[in-house]
Amino acid sequence: MSTATLKVASDASDQVDATQELTDGFHLVIDALKLNGVDTIYGVPGIPITDLGRMAQAAGMRVISFRHEQNAGNAAAIAGYLTKKPGICLTVSAPGFLNGLTALANATTNCFPMILISGSSEREIVDLQQGDYEEMDQLAIAKPLCKAAFRVLHAADIGIGVARAIRAAVSGRPGGVYLDLPAKLFSQVMNAEAGAKSLVKVIDAAPAQIPAPSAIKRALDVLKSAKRPLIILGKGAAYAQADDAIRAFVEKTGVPFLPMSMAKGLLPDTHPQCAGAARSTVLKEADVVVMIGARLNWLLSHGKGKTWGEPGSKRFIQIDIEPKEMDSNVEIVAPVVGDIGSCVAALLEGIGGQWPAPPADWTGAITTKRDENIAKMAPKLMNNAAPMDFHGALGALRTIIKQRPDAILVNEGANTLDLARGIIDMYQPRKRLDVGTWGVMGIGMGYAIAAAIETGKPVLAVEGDSAFGFSGMEVETICRYNLPVCIVIFNNSGIYRGTDVNPRGGDVATTVFVKDARYDRMMEAFGGVGVHATTPDELSRAVNAAMDSGRPTLINAAIDPAAGTESGRIGNLNPQSVVRKK
Ligand code: ADP
Ligand code: MG
Repeated sequence: MSTATLKVASDASDQVDATQELTDGFHLVIDALKLNGVDTIYGVPGIPITDLGRMAQAAGMRVISFRHEQNAGNAAAIAGYLTKKPGICLTVSAPGFLNGLTALANATTNCFPMILISGSSEREIVDLQQGDYEEMDQLAIAKPLCKAAFRVLHAADIGIGVARAIRAAVSGRPGGVYLDLPAKLFSQVMNAEAGAKSLVKVIDAAPAQIPAPSAIKRALDVLKSAKRPLIILGKGAAYAQADDAIRAFVEKTGVPFLPMSMAKGLLPDTHPQCAGAARSTVLKEADVVVMIGARLNWLLSHGKGKTWGEPGSKRFIQIDIEPKEMDSNVEIVAPVVGDIGSCVAALLEGIGGQWPAPPADWTGAITTKRDENIAKMAPKLMNNAAPMDFHGALGALRTIIKQRPDAILVNEGANTLDLARGIIDMYQPRKRLDVGTWGVMGIGMGYAIAAAIETGKPVLAVEGDSAFGFSGMEVETICRYNLPVCIVIFNNSGIYRGTDVNPRGGDVATTVFVKDARYDRMMEAFGGVGVHATTPDELSRAVNAAMDSGRPTLINAAIDPAAGTESGRIGNLNPQSVVRKK
């Protein structure tokens, strides 16, 4: 470890002897992070953390400056998901903190490990509400929105504060952690040797959690009795990085699997057991469902209702690290609590050499349904119409990902999201990053930037024109760091579609944007490549060129404004008035 030291003039501090080696809060924060393997910080500089970023950079860390904290926070969150280490976001006090907080809450909801480190104003003034610069009781505000929140007041506690934050973020169910560092802390001086000793290298930050043998036996008994078994893989399974064990479990049992959005590619979507293209059939008809790192939340209709067929027709086995997740929506007959790597390994061991294949009429029916659906979709994906529709444009991108399976796909929007999820097959784990549990818009550029930085792989960000707007200014960041990010904007000139009309005239309708906008020129403004594509062929050529060159590229894909439906696939969640006043 490189403990930074400084010599101070004799009046620098009353508590320290002028001749000893000294350190301060700035150095201790950086040393504590480095000691724990943190090598990248995402943030926005400003008071009081400007020097922290500068010094971290000087100490050899990668410090990526964004244009808005929410995007830096989203970058940190997805870095956590991709690496299983907490992604670090650094923000200024009050407004910067609040901007970052949305991302911290989103990380927590998605179970991504992240630490939001924010500078804050002086406790004495904040607590007496005397009107400090950017005054805010940040710790109190952060607390209900994240997994844990800590404040450090003394330089000697920085090591412990950072250690607690790291453990809280990655152990058990991962999530967002807030670390509050008041401005005064940074310039607090202490003896360098004592400072170095105060740092903590976190040992075994996310300890394995071994499932009980009885839970494994119970789960296997239920699975063995199934006539129509199904495995659902969630992003917790992708996060766990237990790819080989999960594949072995799926293949050994022969059970069809359904990947949740961000688990696509954990096993290839083209795997013979993948039931992705027969989703509604398998959800309706399965009798035993094994949930691996997936929750029965709104994305799975809470495990009940029409989607799930006859009431009482299912028995659920659930593997999750969070015991409280069990029975959250429906009864779980076989809860398996532990980390996915350990749980799946234990299941494999319990299975031993032999496992009866699921009944052939079940697997056969799924294959038939899947092939039918794929055949139905195929001609739509090959159309080269101009203006493009979603299917034609996505057909082109689907081929590109097939040819470049190690590229990372970032995806947000409404129709752009729902259709891309179904159309673009994924082949490798953790290559699809999207709006996640909240279905939140605005993750696009933050995720794309961190994906490029953390993996060094090319990134294809497929964005609705509205979704892109929430983080669009980060194209400058992408150009500044010269990242291999290719953004494709599905530009249908509006939210859901670009054809709404205000019945009273005057202002345009609330869901409509500037017609024929040229987002490609935003990229050119910062030295990147901008392309305006009007056909799937043009789109395909432009994306391939971007991926070959690795240059920051933005392709404005002109989509028919009349293509697209209200709220994409989740129109049922969008209440619509049936009463229209004249
Ligand atoms: P999806 O949206 O893909 O269904 P969710 O985010 O709803 O996935 O669910 C992920 C689940 O995975 C969460 O319940 C979380 O507790 C769990 N999880 C995350 N990491 C692990 C892990 N390493 N081991 C076990 N469970 C995990
Ligand atoms: Mg749109």
